[in-house]
Amino acid sequence: MTEVKVTMLGTGSPRPELERSGPAQVLTVGDTHILVDCGEGTTAQLMKAGIAPEKIHYLFMTHLHSDHVFGYGQFLLGGWGLGRRKLTIVGPKGMKHFHETILHLFEEDISYRTSLGRPGNGVLDVNIIEIDEPGEIYCGLPWKITTAEMLHNVLTYGYRFEVGEKTVVLSGDTAPTSDLVKLSKDADLLVMDACLAPTSVYRHTDSAELKEIWDNLQKEHCTPEQAGRIGKEAGVKTLVLTHFLPNIIEEETKQEAAAVFAGEIIVSRDLQVIPVTNTVSVHH
Ligand SMILES: [Zn+2]
Ligand SMILES: [Zn+2]
Repeated sequence: MTEVKVTMLGTGSPRPELERSGPAQVLTVGDTHILVDCGEGTTAQLMKAGIAPEKIHYLFMTHLHSDHVFGYGQFLLGGWGLGRRKLTIVGPKGMKHFHETILHLFEEDISYRTSLGRPGNGVLDVNIIEIDEPGEIYCGLPWKITTAEMLHNVLTYGYRFEVGEKTVVLSGDTAPTSDLVKLSKDADLLVMDACLAPTSVYRHTDSAELKEIWDNLQKEHCTPEQAGRIGKEAGVKTLVLTHFLPNIIEEETKQEAAAVFAGEIIVSRDLQVIPVTNTVSVHH
């Protein structure tokens, strides 16, 4: 049986935090690794997880917010330096421009490195697939992959991977939307934005600025309870919560989701490996 697992590389948010790296996760199917999002620290987290960055030939970007792309320059150039010679990226409109801007910024750096004798393949010929409209994605992988538009303040896509008997869905950033319920229908694993988890800062603040930010975030992200509702309506087996602000209260987070969702709930941590073949979680 082919091993299917998800490695949570970064479970953080735009707020820098030592315990939680920028948003990124890897779906591993046998010896194929698919990176989803590329937040700050992704390359180092891959190496800590024992996944060689140059072995990643597919990157799916949910959206182009800074916290999901800050690690891209290092992933692109660092992975190339380690020997990666091919890379396919799937993402929203704007991905091509973002990639070309990085190439432009580091034009001299790249030509220096190619002048040393390193082939330009893997950095100058990256295959970028921008999603025209939600639906099935054809990118060279042998599995059924579908996408749906999420509810966030920039164009954001959630992804559904059907690998053999198993289905894994990653939501990206989103407020509650019926499109995510449809995308996640009967999935074995749903990796889900629960950015609005209880934190010691936000739940007990007198700061008017923090209160305003918190109120505005309700339109862009989910609470653990909303994540739980989506998991329940979609009938998913395991719900993995992520994209946390600093200082979340993990037990309360889990309880909020468990009040509406009866399946397994994982309040994920960096470098946690979650097998999909049997849904027992393993801490690193
Ligand atoms: Zn976002
Ligand atoms: Zn985000």
